[in-house]
Amino acid sequence: MAKTIEKKVLNTQQPDEKGFFGNYGGAYLPPSLVGVMQEITDSYMQIKDDPAFVEELTYLQQTYSGRPSPVYYAKRLSEAVGGAKIYLKREDLNHTGAHKINHCLGEVLLAKRMGKKKVIAETGAGQHGVALATAAALLGLECDIYMGDVDVAKQAPNVRRMQVLGAKVVPVSRGTRTLKDAVDAAFEAYLQDPVTTMYAIGSVVGPHPFPMMVRDFQSVVGREARQQFLDMTGSLPNHVVACVGGGSNAIGIFSGFLDDPEVDIIGVEPGGRGPANGDNAATMTYGTPGIIHGFSCYLLQDKDGEPLPVYSIASGLDYPGVGPQHCYLKDIKRVKYEVATDRDALVAFYDLSRLEGIIPALESAHAIGYAIKVAAKMSPEQTILVNLSGRGDKDMDYVMEHYPLEAYEEQKLLVK
Ligand SMILES: *Cc1c(COP(=O)(O)O)cnc(C)c1O
Repeated sequence: MAKTIEKKVLNTQQPDEKGFFGNYGGAYLPPSLVGVMQEITDSYMQIKDDPAFVEELTYLQQTYSGRPSPVYYAKRLSEAVGGAKIYLKREDLNHTGAHKINHCLGEVLLAKRMGKKKVIAETGAGQHGVALATAAALLGLECDIYMGDVDVAKQAPNVRRMQVLGAKVVPVSRGTRTLKDAVDAAFEAYLQDPVTTMYAIGSVVGPHPFPMMVRDFQSVVGREARQQFLDMTGSLPNHVVACVGGGSNAIGIFSGFLDDPEVDIIGVEPGGRGPANGDNAATMTYGTPGIIHGFSCYLLQDKDGEPLPVYSIASGLDYPGVGPQHCYLKDIKRVKYEVATDRDALVAFYDLSRLEGIIPALESAHAIGYAIKVAAKMSPEQTILVNLSGRGDKDMDYVMEHYPLEAYEEQKLLVK
């Protein structure tokens, strides 16, 4: 893994053969994993255009996940904002309630084709664990999910979902007993048996080929959305907006519009409580280049290169790194990355619920919150397409406890 980084001109969609998007990505691996990861890359490159694989994946997307998900014009929200028209790509309507099923189906199908018996992964809030356990149940593979003790206690409903779906939830009781430690434990387990198992990463992060592969599986969102939007309005949106944790839902919708220079693309990072270290997880806004979990990216890190603690009200967004393709798109200025705070997300959570009858995931509410602010400064002929990555049922208890309805109602609706 000599890292002489070649500065090549890439197009915006493909990494080079070593998995680099510009200076970001690659595969920084212990020697024992190099061959294993190469095997995943080779199998994926062979299978991805195989008509039988594409047909099976498409069949499951349509008959099991419920694709295509609709694009919806949020009329009441747009009128209340009084600016640009806001449209939503409804990934919240997928089976399991979010976009994660898109890449989990792809990853488990690949594992099955490679003759693997088991998929393993880490999970933080449990969303990736549930989506993976679902795909594993569907396709008849075993599934082990590593989860920090602290998260196991906090996320009891998702732990039970995984167990009902037949997955084994393995509690991790080292370090901070949260996501980062779960990743380490899952990787160790994978190292012990890389022949019969496959690691199924939960976003466009980790070593090559995962950022490319997960992106490819999510790109169905962008392909659908572009065509649906054209059919509905006769033109492309002025802005495309999505929240960015690791970056999978964002790159999924962005990839449909990267080659349309007239479309402004904006990724929204979790601004949390503010810019201080430990108060947010806005990796590209406040971070610097570094290495985490086998790849290079913008990273929230201390002076020794150790990842800093991160925070967001949306547990699906609090990761100190971010997908390498996003880092590259930021540097070449094709995509702008902005911040929405906890408060922006909470207001959007209630606004979308009250005005449209759609309760968004707190993750997705970051994108809605940003869109509301920007739409207010635009004209009614202009349009914003937001990827609504998931539904908010999982967040109800937390929001009601920490940000009760009275507080929302005092502030009245919208765009303050
Ligand atoms: C996990 C999750 C995210 C964050 O993951 P990305 O890889 O950044 O998309 C966003 N929205 C929802 C609903 C999630 O469950």
